[in-house]
Amino acid sequence: MEDVQKELNKLLELQDIDLRIRALDEQSIDGYAQLDVEQEGIDANIAEAEDLKERLEVVGKEKRDVEYELEDETIRLKDRQAKLMNVQTNREYQSLLKEIEHTKGDNKRRFEEIERYTEIAEAMQQKIIALETEAAEGAVALAEEKAKIDALTSKLEKQKTKIDKTRGAKVKKVTGSIYKRYEQLRERRNGIAIVGVTEGVCQGCYMTIPPQQFNELMKGDQLHTCPTCQRMMFHMPQSEEE
Ligand SMILES: [Zn+2]
Repeated sequence: MEDVQKELNKLLELQDIDLRIRALDEQSIDGYAQLDVEQEGIDANIAEAEDLKERLEVVGKEKRDVEYELEDETIRLKDRQAKLMNVQTNREYQSLLKEIEHTKGDNKRRFEEIERYTEIAEAMQQKIIALETEAAEGAVALAEEKAKIDALTSKLEKQKTKIDKTRGAKVKKVTGSIYKRYEQLRERRNGIAIVGVTEGVCQGCYMTIPPQQFNELMKGDQLHTCPTCQRMMFHMPQSEEE
């Protein structure tokens, strides 16, 4: 029956429109998804910088502790050196001298420790600056990209509004019950409700349909659905697919 063919053609036109609308939506969705990925990268840099700042504070505190120790010990060292002039016995002198040498050694170690802390702190500060610079530059680039995607989205929305009008006109021409089925399938079958069958294979799920059904389908006088994916089918000879 010619009616079935007409109905199928109308559905195919509608599906084509719906796929175009979906492609427009996806362009915008993909764009925003990419922005999210970039935002995550920026957030990770900021978090790492914050973490480093906390560790830098700890390093600073540890360094100051050693600096205070060094100050105290330097004063004590000077006291001992002054005392050295006034000792009475050789034994006392030797013992004090030993203490002085010991403290000098300790202070040398403290001094080196302070230098090490300074180096670590400098490296950390540089890393923090690098991370914050990267985050700031990333934020600027992201804002520019977002503006582009916003502009693209509003352009796409305008295109969609136009297509929606065409769609509305097409929908009116499709039989109500078939349109309902079309919408259900479209939702459940990833936007594809009507598919071609080429050499007995459904091009929606790539399963072979029973030979008897394929013969019936080729007659084109009934609306058939795929036994596997339930999509509405039409016969699509090999040459048409190429
Ligand atoms: Zn199928």
